[in-house]
Amino acid sequence: MMHAVDHIGIAVANIEAAMDLYRRIFGVAEFHREVVPTQGVDVASFDLNGVRIELTAATSETSPIAAFIAKRGEGIHHIAFRTSDAAGELLRLDAAGLQLIHSTPQPGAHDMLIAFLHPRSTGGVLMEVCQPRTTSTTDI
Ligand code: ZN
Repeated sequence: MMHAVDHIGIAVANIEAAMDLYRRIFGVAEFHREVVPTQGVDVASFDLNGVRIELTAATSETSPIAAFIAKRGEGIHHIAFRTSDAAGELLRLDAAGLQLIHSTPQPGAHDMLIAFLHPRSTGGVLMEVCQPRTTSTTDI
């Protein structure tokens, strides 16, 4: 079961310029910045009362974010839903006929386990399943 919207991922070409823009939009600064080498992303996170907005830039030309921006431009990239059991959710979703990009959870930002569903099977919306690996909520 997915029980909350964890974050919204926004693909950006230039992380510094996007951070400046979103600081002006939200009126608060980002609370977290993290490069996730295995995902090829540089992430800056803003907290809006528990819902994170994650600005996500590519760290290389082979990053999925680089491919997304080349194809569709900057903008909303994905919506992430929180679960307490990502591996179990992937089995449930697979059995329910959804197409998985990741069949097993991968390391993501904020010490999360993450996996993406293919937008071909979700009506065009890139969806992420994410599970906090720790019980700490200080970073949410
Ligand atoms: Zn995400």
